Amino acid sequence: MRKLRIAVIDLVTKAPTRTLYARVMHANLASIMPQVIAHWCEEEGHDVKLVCFTGLENLVEELPDNLDLVFIGAFTQAAQLAYALSNQFRQNGAITVIGGPHARCYPEDAQKYFDYVLGFTDKKVIRDVLQDCSRHRPLGVRLEAKQQPTSLPGVRERWKFIEPTLRKSPFFKIVPMLGSMGCPYTCSFCIDAAVPYQPLDFEVMKDDLRFLLKIYKRPVVGWHDPNFGVRFDDYMDAIEDAVPPDHIDFIAESSLSLLSEANVKRLRRNGFKALLPGIESWYDLGNKSKTGKAQGMDKVRQVSEHINMIMRYVPYVQANFVLGLDTDEGPEPFELTKRFLDMSPGAFPAFSLLSAFGQAAELNLGYQRDNRVLPFPFHFLNNNHAMNVRPKNYSWPELYDGIVSLSRHAFSWRAIGKRFRATGETIPRWLNVVRAVSSEGFGRIKYHTAMRQRLDHDRPLRRFFEQETIEIPQFYIDRIQQDLGPLWQWLPAGALQHDPHAYLKSESASVRAPMSAPVKVSRRVEVEQLV
Ligand code: SF4
Repeated sequence: MRKLRIAVIDLVTKAPTRTLYARVMHANLASIMPQVIAHWCEEEGHDVKLVCFTGLENLVEELPDNLDLVFIGAFTQAAQLAYALSNQFRQNGAITVIGGPHARCYPEDAQKYFDYVLGFTDKKVIRDVLQDCSRHRPLGVRLEAKQQPTSLPGVRERWKFIEPTLRKSPFFKIVPMLGSMGCPYTCSFCIDAAVPYQPLDFEVMKDDLRFLLKIYKRPVVGWHDPNFGVRFDDYMDAIEDAVPPDHIDFIAESSLSLLSEANVKRLRRNGFKALLPGIESWYDLGNKSKTGKAQGMDKVRQVSEHINMIMRYVPYVQANFVLGLDTDEGPEPFELTKRFLDMSPGAFPAFSLLSAFGQAAELNLGYQRDNRVLPFPFHFLNNNHAMNVRPKNYSWPELYDGIVSLSRHAFSWRAIGKRFRATGETIPRWLNVVRAVSSEGFGRIKYHTAMRQRLDHDRPLRRFFEQETIEIPQFYIDRIQQDLGPLWQWLPAGALQHDPHAYLKSESASVRAPMSAPVKVSRRVEVEQLV
């Protein structure tokens, strides 16, 4: 095989940007799989350059000319950016490949703009791409492994790609690590629910932790496990074997059901500084929050006590919620969340709007069958800038009234002050303030308030929301053009639209006739999951 010139681009953001948050945080959001793919390509003897695109880079300057092959990893919100980049690289003669959550959620759409679209990706899939490396147009080839890989190169092997990425982060550097794939829980909106839980090799993990202790005085590790600590004692034994107590700061997403007081004490001893449990709903998903059948205010009380207990040991806790779920009705869910925030003032709330990411979960088939999925451009599908599922029990204005009211409560100066006082350590305190006054808090209030007003005054936009038309409102088009800047000119024709029923159609087609090789279809898609 000839030696290929390969670029691997990890899109951690959806457009060029120069914000302070991007400078401080984006490099810390780098994904693991692009680094793995870069490593595998090098092992096969090719020249590889990886760029983590944080929004600040000029890719033309950073990447060599005459590339043979370009891999792009993207979440759905970065799809339009990925499509524009692919078009640009193709015009310059490169073959392009897309992987990551967007490729797995919307493979039919991605096929229109890439030569290869990857589902579950292991070394053999990458080898197949490298060996074939040819144009597949107008429709790209879909490739995937039967399951996620059972082993991955660790931090030591990926360091060549991790180090230059973290060099971009001026204040703190979070090393991405992975201890497991999949999740034993069954949250209906999450793809990891359908992926069997599988821990990775604990010996590799221990070696990586020892390696990091030699590199940094006090490393910070962000666990990318969908649900950290499912085999809790095995994990802690491994960490305690490799790391003296409290020598590495850890960040992890764990479900509340794993966070008993005994477990939280052990996490504290081992340096866990930030936990991001999912609460999601006051009426559903009791198994993951260990609240059983408790609902409404009973669940608020139980979860609040639990979160307050965690905060006695761990200084930073982010509580995740999903707004607009089918189990929600009337103002009560929003009011209960406000009560929770009053009772657990130290927790930072992260709100997501109910979103159906293509093939992410079987639940989405039901939304598509009921014609409840709206074709918002992918650029806005980040759980916040659009809710692409028509709410079951709310009109759009009612829903946005609730969202605006809750956001104003959560990020009022009073709540910010209470959060500041209820948080024990300096960095977490100020991090909460910065998040609240930035795009995440004040920015969301502004955006949701403007959307609420548009629902009353922007008739074309309201007609789109009400599914009277599928024409993308000008408001969204203008915003994408503004965000993409010079890359707008490379966005292929038709790339603003997608078929919101593609998953349903692919299921019906696969019932009628099996797909022919080499197209392999999977329903198990990893997505922007919420633990
Ligand atoms: S949302 Fe979290 S707990 Fe639920 S299935 Fe997904 S990873 Fe597991």
